[in-house]
Amino acid sequence: MPSTLQPVLDRIAAEIEALPGRGSPADYIPALACADPRRFGMAVAELDGTVYGVGDWRHPFSSQSITKVFTLALDLSLEGDELWEHVGREPSGNPFNSLVQLEYENGIPRNPFINAGALVVTDRLQTLTGDASGALLAFLRAESGNDQLTFDEKVAASETAHGDRNAALAHFMASYGNIGNPVPALLDQYFRQCSVEASCADLALAAGFLARHGIRADGSTLLTRSRAKQVNAVMLTCGTYDAAGDFAHRVGLPGKSGVGGGIIAVVPGRCTVCVWSPGLDQRGNSVAGVAALDRFTTLTGLSVF
Ligand code: GLU
Repeated sequence: MPSTLQPVLDRIAAEIEALPGRGSPADYIPALACADPRRFGMAVAELDGTVYGVGDWRHPFSSQSITKVFTLALDLSLEGDELWEHVGREPSGNPFNSLVQLEYENGIPRNPFINAGALVVTDRLQTLTGDASGALLAFLRAESGNDQLTFDEKVAASETAHGDRNAALAHFMASYGNIGNPVPALLDQYFRQCSVEASCADLALAAGFLARHGIRADGSTLLTRSRAKQVNAVMLTCGTYDAAGDFAHRVGLPGKSGVGGGIIAVVPGRCTVCVWSPGLDQRGNSVAGVAALDRFTTLTGLSVF
């Protein structure tokens, strides 16, 4: 294996260029709908923080649900296993914003990566830190080394204006006692969290602790090895909406996607990869992003299997 995977990235970018269909950008808020589906970027971050990429790998995009990985890790680092009393770790098989399972599971969401579960995580992080989205941003800035990372207030406002479904999820769980903060304050935190603008380079670097078995960029410990394994496991089984089985089949790595078209993937002990292309498939995963990761593991043999 060469020390840099740059030639592999270059080859993948050329192949993606020829990909016939790219899907369509998310259209539930206008701020995302105008993204160009032809854009494509991919970055690899090595364990030592070396980062390189291809295409639009330094272009910031809307992180959206990718941030759910970081809030989960931050919450676990603070409260540990107590979190698992309030959110499960099973794939849902339902769309990311579904309400249906919550009623017969007493307001306990199936996993931290569907919206209901992410709302619980953000709620708990808010209680523990007093500023969940601020804690997230500080972490992302520190790990990526990019002080310019920030929220996109326009996206956050647009999410708020179209936030009825997330509000319903939060109120419903609050009725079961599984939300501690006032729902409007929680939604404000959650929508700011989703609106973080970051590039493939930023997110690949920020996820590095998952490849380093819980160790942050400065050498300090965020998660124990065992907890880092837990986060990677939940990514593998629940990280790509209700297509996690297909993603595991094609890519074979823990991954987390977002409706902005980004996907982060982890090769434990080796590197992290972030890919971005805004065109999504029916289940909300980037078409070119999944194809690129599929080729990445096929060409390099780097998978967890
Ligand atoms: N802000 C989006 C929502 O909560 C996140 C969607 C996503 O990336 O899955 O609806």
